[in-house]
Amino acid sequence: MSRHTKIFIGLLFGAAAGVVCNAFLHETAFVNVVQTYVSDPLGKIFLNLLIMMVIPLVFASLSLGVAQIGDLKHLGRIGVRTIGYFLLVTTIAVTIGLVLVNTIRPGDFLPSETKEELLSSYSEQASQLKDASERTEFGIQTLVNIVPRNPAAIIARPNPDMLALIFVALMVGIALTLIAKERAAPVIRVLEGINDITVSIINIAMRLAPYGVAALIFSVTSRFGFDLIVALSMYVVTVLIGLFLHQFGVFAILIRLFARYNPLLFFRNVQTVMLTAFSTSSSNATLPTTILVSQNNLGIPSHITGFVLPMGATMNMNGTALFEGVTVLFLAQVFGVELSLGAQIVVVIMSVLTAVGAAGVPSGSIPLLVMVLAMVNVPAEGIAIILGVDRILDMCRTVLNVTGDVTCAAYIARSEGVTLKA
Ligand code: ASP
Repeated sequence: MSRHTKIFIGLLFGAAAGVVCNAFLHETAFVNVVQTYVSDPLGKIFLNLLIMMVIPLVFASLSLGVAQIGDLKHLGRIGVRTIGYFLLVTTIAVTIGLVLVNTIRPGDFLPSETKEELLSSYSEQASQLKDASERTEFGIQTLVNIVPRNPAAIIARPNPDMLALIFVALMVGIALTLIAKERAAPVIRVLEGINDITVSIINIAMRLAPYGVAALIFSVTSRFGFDLIVALSMYVVTVLIGLFLHQFGVFAILIRLFARYNPLLFFRNVQTVMLTAFSTSSSNATLPTTILVSQNNLGIPSHITGFVLPMGATMNMNGTALFEGVTVLFLAQVFGVELSLGAQIVVVIMSVLTAVGAAGVPSGSIPLLVMVLAMVNVPAEGIAIILGVDRILDMCRTVLNVTGDVTCAAYIARSEGVTLKA
């Protein structure tokens, strides 16, 4: 049985067991014990196993990717195309979201009692998030922080600053191409060794994937307030339609036009990536799988996956940007704040920028989203309204975030004259 079939079975099993427990045994001692002692720890161990390898993987694969590309002019060309692609496709994603939310106007469907109820039941989490977002430095300081004073401090933090790590890895890769070949060679061999070690550990971790995925999904579905989905159905549906259009419409067109590849085959080949993203809600945790699948199933060379995918996991979040755009406008509608065209353009720009800056971890974008709300004068506490459905939307938007990275790597490979595996 192939790996993605096993993961899929794990996902279905976890979801079915979770839904049954939610419906018939909600908050019973039995389910609490299963959550606390089985599904939560198992899911966390699986996630941590993947995430613990992300720092060495990003560092080794990105610096190696740059070193293998070799000449700086060539690197510049690939770099400009990659970042250009990220920004362009993310802008398309937010635009789709805004067109939908302005057309469907889900905010007009939310009864005011539900609004008050949600505001009060999630108020504590919302005010914590508001404090966190006030502490988040975003703006010119974000730019300054990309160049770290102490690279060791980046990785010592509980939430490593991935943009700074990317910067250091790029600089090391560039320096490797500038120094004498015989000096660079041993360092490159060490980096290749680190890369191989991380890949091998990840292969072991992925054997646990069917169980890890079942546990993660069980933890979500057994606790989930399904009645919330009904209460917020118009909003949830608006986000999902947008994600669906971007995933299967925009990506299919981009794959056909830019990578000259059959979209159906593409989606079939990246199934494991989509499943891992859906169940972990984390671009970072999915990154090792994204790299392996892009190389093995699509035949994208390692210097391209090594360059594009680690940057994409942090900087290219199409699903997140679309979700942010829809959410800001939905909450504006709920609170009766009319956003002019100018304000909506600010929402587009901020959604793109915050999607670049958001961490590729579960709910990584929420603190930045709170900041965007405040920026366009929508009450930041309003985030309370959507927190209850965030996890499920996070699972879906992360699928787009990582699929978008693979579409970019496929485009870059094609533009470099590589023929992808049929
Ligand atoms: N969970 C998302 C990711 O890792 C980030 C977010 O939208 O919160 O890609």
